[in-house]
Amino acid sequence: MTDYKKPLPAISTLNGPYWDGLKQRELKMPSCNDCGKLWYPPAPFCPECWSRNFTWRQLSGRGTVNSWVVFHQAYFSSYKDDVPYNVAEVELEEGPRLLTNLVGIANADIVIGMSVEIVYDDVTDEVTLAKFRPTEQ
Ligand SMILES: [Zn+2]
Repeated sequence: MTDYKKPLPAISTLNGPYWDGLKQRELKMPSCNDCGKLWYPPAPFCPECWSRNFTWRQLSGRGTVNSWVVFHQAYFSSYKDDVPYNVAEVELEEGPRLLTNLVGIANADIVIGMSVEIVYDDVTDEVTLAKFRPTEQ
């Protein structure tokens, strides 16, 4: 775990609840108390109505694949053993979209619109990443 060489997020007071949530197996995003909008990445105000009155809401962790690509080149040397690897945009049930990796599926089997659910990947003692796998029917 401690030899994790890939890029890690800069955790701040703004995005801290997101990363703390993942560590605790909860996917949380800011939710506007005035208009109900959920958004990601974290911003200090609602992108819909600019309200600063928001709370962190726990989401279902379910969504669908909206788009994906397969990287055949390692832009970071720490990814060289992973190529080819996928990067997918998952549209969550609640609306926000998340860039992530799909696991538990061959790249050739990924299709747009497929149902996926969150998997928590503890990459270091401090950081847990949100990845997604096909939903078991
Ligand atoms: Zn709002």
